[in-house]
Formats: sequence, C-alpha cells, structure tokens
Amino acid sequence: MSSPLMLRLLSASVVAANRAGRVIREVLKSGELSVVDKGGNDPQTEADRKAQRCILSTLSTRFPEINLHGEETLEPSEEDQQLTEMGESGDVLKEACPQIYDGLRERDFIVWVDPLDGTSEFTQGFIEHVTVLIGIAVGGKAVAGVIHQPFVSAPDNTMGRTIWGLVGLGVRGANLITNPPTAGTLRVVVTRSHYTEAVEKTVKAINPTEYLKEGGCGNKVLMVLEGTAEAYIFPSRGTKRWDTCAGDGIVRAAGGVFTDIHGNDILYDCAKDKAANRTGLLVTMDTELHKNIISKIPQSVKDEFEN
Ligand code: AMP
Ligand code: MG
Ligand code: MG
Repeated sequence: MSSPLMLRLLSASVVAANRAGRVIREVLKSGELSVVDKGGNDPQTEADRKAQRCILSTLSTRFPEINLHGEETLEPSEEDQQLTEMGESGDVLKEACPQIYDGLRERDFIVWVDPLDGTSEFTQGFIEHVTVLIGIAVGGKAVAGVIHQPFVSAPDNTMGRTIWGLVGLGVRGANLITNPPTAGTLRVVVTRSHYTEAVEKTVKAINPTEYLKEGGCGNKVLMVLEGTAEAYIFPSRGTKRWDTCAGDGIVRAAGGVFTDIHGNDILYDCAKDKAANRTGLLVTMDTELHKNIISKIPQSVKDEFEN
C-alpha cells in the first residue's frame, strides 16, 4: 500500500530541497548569478529562479491539486521538466504517519516555497546563511517543514544538510537541544541585512546576554532549534509566509513556539499578495521565555506592528 499523502508530500519536498541545493551550488560555481533587483534590498539571482523551478515543478507534477506558492514570479520554461525530481526520501517514508493526517486530500494542503532564503548573504559570500525552505500548512496552520542548507555538510560529510519535521512525529536531521542553557543565558539572534530602529529598540529592551546578527530566516530558526541562540526576534513587516512556514512547522514539531511579536500564530491560508508577516516574528523553544520576551517588547514597537 502506498504511504499517506502527508508523508509522500514531505518525501517529495525533501528530495526537491536537496536537488534545489545542488542547483544553487552549481549556479554559484558557474559564477553567473545574473542578479535582478526586486526593489528595496530584495535581490533575486539565477539560483533563486532555478531552485524555485525545481521545487515547484517537482511538487506540481507529483501533486497537481495542492496549493503551491513560491516566492519568485516566473513564467513557465523548458527547464522546468529537466529540474523535476521524481525520487523519494526513504527517511521520510519509513516513518509511521500520525493519524491526525488521515483522510487529507491534495487540495487541503498549502505549500509555501522560498527557493533560496538569504539571497543578500548569498551574493555577498556569506553562503552558510543560505537555506532552501519548503513549508507545509493544513487548515491554515504550519504542520511540517523542510529546511535545507546547501553549504553546510551533512553528518556523512557530503555537502548539503537537510532538516525536516512534522507535528505529531518530531524533527529529523537536526542536533536538537538536550540540556537547557546555563541559567541567565539569553542569546538573541536578529537580522543582519534588514536592521531597523524597531529591532534596535526591541533588543535593548530585552537586554540579552548576547545578540547575534545573522542572515536568512531559515538560518536563524535553525540556530534557535539547535540552541546556538535562545530567541529569534524580528519586529518588521519584511518577512513573508514563504520565509516562515517551513521553520514554523519544524519548530512546532519540536515543541517550540513560533508566533508574531504579540504571541499570535501565523496563518498560512492567505493569498500570495497578502503574504507579508505584518506583525513581526518571535521564535523560541521555551514557552516561558517566549512569554517573558513578549512582556519586554516596548509598547511603541507592539503598536507599530499591529494588524
Ligand atoms: P533577514 O533576517 O534580514 O535575513 O530576512 C529574512 C528574510 O526576510 C529574507 O528572505 C529577506 O529577504 C526577507 N526580508 C526581511 N526584511 C525585509 C525587507 N525589509 N524587505 C524585503 N525582504 C525582507
Ligand atoms: Mg527568504
Ligand atoms: Mg528567497
């Protein structure tokens, strides 16, 4: 009998993310990034375009009725078929699917794809900040995700590392935190390339023991997931649903908290032109810490990022 749709979709997402990672490495090696400025510190390269073609053509060929949103706006191309990945992930398909996903049909899923997160960093040579993001939502909620790091080694020393998670099953491929951080430690990770006054004001009010500036939403989520930071905060309208859905699904699968700066869940059943996360982001693995940080965010910042 074939696997449940949830696992088949996750399996296809894992192989598509891995292939997209290979495509991104090839484009970088070719030296032909062909950068297009989408406006306002928001570049797009040939790697973003090709990686999106790979993921969207893979998922739409295999699951024609799922709702699929990719960051880049692209016309269909002859390349699409060549970039379609028909393999499976044995690591996903060997798992038992939680029963909560029984009976779902393709049209019940919304998938948000960021083919290359951290493009500014990619063009500037900070390649280890780059991730490929595929987020899966059901009923508006993020339930699963894949984050692939094209320029970080896998445990078997091959290039490219993939982390995936499913709510009800857990997370695979990550070095999850096993011990809580030393009492009093609070490392907060923030944006490297979209720093604003609101970010500055918020970090000051939280008064962390350390604050780290890193590129990419996927990269910062992984830092919190794996315990190199206790919190990721971004009081800004800059991220979109494709930046957050994968990390949201994975953090939830690991028992963490992924919300806006008011503590509200992010809903993923919106149209692509309404994809901005207008009320900011706050990600922690610890519920108490999450509440504590929300209580410290200045009211003026909360007011600025109201719905
Ligand atoms: P960052 O944390 O600055 O690396 O941003 C994480 C993701 O959100 C990346 O995909 C950025 O391109 C996007 N992003 C954040 N802020 C903005 C902004 N002001 N304008 C456009 N994209 C942004
Ligand atoms: Mg992005
Ligand atoms: Mg992107």
